[in-house]
Amino acid sequence: MQKVTLNNGVEMPLLGFGVWQIPDAEECEQAVYDALIAGYRLIDTAAAYENEEAVGRAIIRSGVPREEIFVTTKLWVQDAGFERAKIAFDKSLDRLQLDYIDLYLIHQPFGDIYGSWRAMEELYAQGKVKAIGVSNFQMDRLVDLICHNDIVPVVNQIETHPFYHQLESEKIMKEYNIQMESWGPLAQGKNNIFQNEILVTLANKHQKSVAQVILRWLTQRGIVVIPKSVHKERIIENFRIFDFELSQDDMDAISTLDTNTSLFPSKNNPNIVKQFANWKFDI
Ligand code: NDP
Repeated sequence: MQKVTLNNGVEMPLLGFGVWQIPDAEECEQAVYDALIAGYRLIDTAAAYENEEAVGRAIIRSGVPREEIFVTTKLWVQDAGFERAKIAFDKSLDRLQLDYIDLYLIHQPFGDIYGSWRAMEELYAQGKVKAIGVSNFQMDRLVDLICHNDIVPVVNQIETHPFYHQLESEKIMKEYNIQMESWGPLAQGKNNIFQNEILVTLANKHQKSVAQVILRWLTQRGIVVIPKSVHKERIIENFRIFDFELSQDDMDAISTLDTNTSLFPSKNNPNIVKQFANWKFDI
């Protein structure tokens, strides 16, 4: 598995497995188990996905040594703040049945994120987490967090897919040595992505699937990807992306698909901010 080296020296697999929207515990456990058996060594969960227990069980059941697996989980908005974040972290650790987390992310840029970040800096200093980062941070929020704290986030996990390339954000994150990680790499199937003419042409050219072309395109850009699937054959398919290479012409063809627009509700919208503040989980 190809890896990237984060700004604190920790290595992270370039390709992983995401588990959002797998609320059924058995289904989630089976999917993570299938992913680990297929060879994935990065699992991306979150307290708000309410499936950390299932991820923890799958890790144990797989028999893969803990030190070979890179586990990411995330702090939800309701637990923002110095004291709350530390409690929430311990709860995640318990649910995952782990004694450390590889990467802990602030899930959304809302609430007392500065308190959260200081708690995460403390957890990092204690060795309870190997790396700390953020998710869904637009560049102004990201730079503000960096300017007012000691530790620079290792990762920013943001929406990135063929219809939203995030080129401007990528440039700024490179300046700060922050690893870009794509969520929704397959655009969650939106916009008929799997039937897109350009992507289908490239898939046929390389005798690969559209999903494989997309994941290859992102990883060739050096972006960490964490596709989700509950189907074993797709889990395996999404893992087989390192036995072919896209040419510069192929990459240029995908460039034409960029709309520079999110496919999801804007985090700048006051109503959305309010919605996130009220979005509570039993965690
Ligand atoms: P993805 O872009 O990974 O798309 C998942 C969808 O694509 C599912 O409907 C899946 O269906 C389908 N799919 C997967 N593989 C294939 C394939 N080979 N062929 C056809 N269809 C396929 O969306 P996600 O939103 O799940 O993003 C991935 C991960 O990113 C999440 O699981 C989560 O870990 C993370 N994430 C983080 C966010 C954040 O705020 N930080 C927000 C959103 C996601 P099926 O399961 O039926 O196979």
